[in-house]
Amino acid sequence: MAINTFFLRVAARCNLNCDYCYVFKHRDNSWKKMPATISDIVIDNFSERLREYLFEENINQANIIFHGGEPLFIGKNRLIEISDKIRTMCENYASISFSLQTNGTLIDEKFLDNCAKRGIGISLSLDGPENVHNHHRKYASGSGSFQDVLNAINLLKKYPEIFEGVIGVIDPNFAPDEILSFYDDNDLTNIDLLLPDSTYIDPPMGKEKDHFIYSKWLINAFDSWFSKHQRLHYRTFEHILQGLLGTSSTLDTFGLGKLDYITIETDGSYHTTDIMKVAYENASAIGLTLFDSSISKAINSEKILEYNKLLSWNNIPLKCKHCEFGNICGGGSLPHRYSADNGFSNPSIYCEEMLALFAHARNKLFKEIEKETKRFIKG
Ligand code: SF4
Repeated sequence: MAINTFFLRVAARCNLNCDYCYVFKHRDNSWKKMPATISDIVIDNFSERLREYLFEENINQANIIFHGGEPLFIGKNRLIEISDKIRTMCENYASISFSLQTNGTLIDEKFLDNCAKRGIGISLSLDGPENVHNHHRKYASGSGSFQDVLNAINLLKKYPEIFEGVIGVIDPNFAPDEILSFYDDNDLTNIDLLLPDSTYIDPPMGKEKDHFIYSKWLINAFDSWFSKHQRLHYRTFEHILQGLLGTSSTLDTFGLGKLDYITIETDGSYHTTDIMKVAYENASAIGLTLFDSSISKAINSEKILEYNKLLSWNNIPLKCKHCEFGNICGGGSLPHRYSADNGFSNPSIYCEEMLALFAHARNKLFKEIEKETKRFIKG
């Protein structure tokens, strides 16, 4: 199996201190031993390994996604230098596209100019309006980061060709319509809102007080999107509708499929996906590095074979195989299946929420189809 997407973790630190962060606030503390930023030696090795892999697999297009921590923690000029270096090393083999997932607080116009010249795409983390965003996404001082992110958005609006959208984390204590209206009013039309990463060891926050808090939020969000904010491309909801209509695709918010990327940490070690860090210490580590192994060897490692096995239909939990939405949900996001007793052999910790949301979305969709069909027949 060949892949063409590489998450390059250029910084293992962040200038924010968000309380739900899957890298710094869950079960894995390996970041403490990682170099704070990626070194020239790791970049050189990565570029060599990538070049070798592109050639071996005859790949003519590859995607590099800069991640952190906060990728701009490494420095804006340095990030541009890194992208130039990788491109120069690999351009005879494949066209390389770059993007980054950033909290937005360190962006300035000169950096965006440099990104625009190179086609480096930018995706921002933004949870919603000020009161929602600042509730979790704070600096170490305790002050919220909203104003700085808003400034970044206003700058990014001058560069629509590289602005890829926003991703937020759901806090079910805030009304979904308020959040979707905020995105809509600010012309942030490519969005996704993710459930906070949780496992059976660390269940979703707030559910102990109100068992249905996430189900209610998701259903209300779906209704708000479906009736008022359809111009928003809300990735998870669009994926669910496509699944209900029988168009199969995969999204790592859910299960099934295969890992179609690999992550490289600041120390040059290969990893599966960062979100696995919510499960246990070193859960994402493959056990190989750029210094001892080719990309090909990492992709064919036991760890990735095991990861893909867990995502295969034959290995999703029995309940999921019998679930009427099993082909869309596939047991949910893999880390959300984790328990200390049973490993990943559980339905998602958000199973009830998924069942409620899928059933609601199906009902809504069928009513809409019925309405349209009647209108069509009447003619
Ligand atoms: S909704 Fe629950 S039972 Fe159905 S596939 Fe998802 S996790 Fe499994």
